Amino acid sequence: MIYKCNNCGGNVIYSPEKKAMHCSHCDSLESQNPTPQNSLEQCANCGAPLKLEEFTSAYKCEHCGVYFILDEKVSGVYLPHLILPFQVSRAEAKEKLKQEFKKRIFTPLAFLSEASLSKMEGSYVPFFLYDYTSQVDFEGKGSKVRVWRTGNKEHTETSIYSIQRNMTIDFDKIPVDASIKMNDSVMDLMEPYQYQSLEAFQEKYMSGFFSEFYNKTAEEMKNRAMDKAGRDSETLLQETIQGYSSVTTLHKDIHLMEDKIHYALLPVWIYDFRFRSKTFQFHVNGQTGKVIGKSPISISKVLLYSGSLFVFLLSIGFLIRGIMEVFS
Ligand SMILES: [Zn+2]
Ligand SMILES: [Zn+2]
Repeated sequence: MIYKCNNCGGNVIYSPEKKAMHCSHCDSLESQNPTPQNSLEQCANCGAPLKLEEFTSAYKCEHCGVYFILDEKVSGVYLPHLILPFQVSRAEAKEKLKQEFKKRIFTPLAFLSEASLSKMEGSYVPFFLYDYTSQVDFEGKGSKVRVWRTGNKEHTETSIYSIQRNMTIDFDKIPVDASIKMNDSVMDLMEPYQYQSLEAFQEKYMSGFFSEFYNKTAEEMKNRAMDKAGRDSETLLQETIQGYSSVTTLHKDIHLMEDKIHYALLPVWIYDFRFRSKTFQFHVNGQTGKVIGKSPISISKVLLYSGSLFVFLLSIGFLIRGIMEVFS
């Protein structure tokens, strides 16, 4: 789909600030007229050939700059159940990056330049959200030891307790990203998203952004969700068995039952920065504004600062020696 403006023919995109569809050409709201984009080879707006990657579902035509959504990649088996519309605008995401990296003394100046930052794009990342019910059964023996003295005799009293736990834990929407391109550790750091803001899927929220559809099926990804649910069940169980000197497990069973799987799209701003022939990638959570990424280190700036760093360490050396002399 391409959302074109009824008034001026411009590209209507979803605006996180206005929480509405917006035409930046004539400033009108909700003036969109959806035009299908069925071809994977040609832009429906200008006819330019498209160079799409394997899992692309939304893109920006490199020729005419129009944002489009590949209808067949967001329907049928690819139809998302839920979407978390962008809440952080492009301007806000830029500002978050600037604030975060201004503090870092070794960041190269070009990193925060307007020209570099304008290459930042918003993208929806495909996620599966798994609901599990966990049944935890535990049987064990716990001991508590009490030691006291009378005169020169030491007394030890050991009490043995029978421990029984039967717990039912509901896990709601355990997130696992279904994009190969997105680094798992980055996505883990990006959390938490506030999942209560998820909405029933509407294609128009994708206008103005890039997107992928799921690279792997929910079945292929579910081990990661089960690992999380298993680990959290274990932690919750251990929290209920506190205060013993030792615990012996007689029987333990954590059984996970799958309730529901939701396919959802979650918002991320992505900023690729090229520095000394390396690409550094930065991410801003499109809902919360949380920034993820390490700034590249500019060698000239490091050298500038290492002088004062050396002096600082030297004075600490003296300070420690001073204290040592007092005590010796
Ligand atoms: Zn317009
Ligand atoms: Zn085009």
